[in-house]
Amino acid sequence: MAWYRKITIKTPDELKIMRAAGKINAEALQAAYKMIRPGVTTADINAAAEEVLRKYGVTSPFMNYPGPYPYPASTNVSINDELVHGIPGKRKVKNGDIVSVDCGTTYEGFVADSAFTAPAGEVSPEAMRLLKVTEQALYAGIEKMRAGNRVGDVSYAVQQYAEKHGYYVTREYTGHGVGRVMHEGPQVPNYGIPGRGVELQPGMVIALEPMILVGTERTRVCPDEWTVVTEDGSLCCHWEHSVAVTENGPLILTRLENGESPAQIAGQPGVEQV
Ligand code: MG
Ligand code: MG
Repeated sequence: MAWYRKITIKTPDELKIMRAAGKINAEALQAAYKMIRPGVTTADINAAAEEVLRKYGVTSPFMNYPGPYPYPASTNVSINDELVHGIPGKRKVKNGDIVSVDCGTTYEGFVADSAFTAPAGEVSPEAMRLLKVTEQALYAGIEKMRAGNRVGDVSYAVQQYAEKHGYYVTREYTGHGVGRVMHEGPQVPNYGIPGRGVELQPGMVIALEPMILVGTERTRVCPDEWTVVTEDGSLCCHWEHSVAVTENGPLILTRLENGESPAQIAGQPGVEQV
């Protein structure tokens, strides 16, 4: 799974375009978030996000993403033990499910990539705790996205936050640089060693994405060849923001116009606002 993709440094003008892409992506995710309730299908949730992308005349880099076969939708919608890459379809959301939506937007040649996990109806306290811890693990990592820090500092922050709450982090899927393509360097795992790895510089943009599992760090891919599930069937959770490293600290690009995240479960700690 080693990646040797290029790391790109964005100019201030490019970051403005990426922020615009991020706002559209956030609006699409917010529409998906509002759609989540028992009885809707995962296709309905995808359609809500796609309607926003269509309104802006933009597309998702997820559509036709190369894999075992071209990915067939603009979002991933993954439920309960599905970690990532769930394909929207006829599956109905049930009361007590936790539903993850991951969406990408390509706008004027730049990509935004972000995800959340939300409760449908009444979920168990255990599931709600997982949602909150994963969201907070994302912010713990973002807090370390400062020039001069290294990728290992960010990865370690995510890992520590998850593990101190008794959870596992995935070893098989990672965050990544993002820019003109969805997956650039550097890879940003959800585990790491402080002080190691690529040094962060102003103008780098990273899609940081904690993927946190309750019972195991191991996953498998379903027969549809895309959907990734926990090997033991336990719950898992995924949150993601595309974040720029700036002279003034981390800048979350995939927030709404008003600076809020498209979905908020645990609330937003004091990271740099747009
Ligand atoms: Mg994503
Ligand atoms: Mg991503």
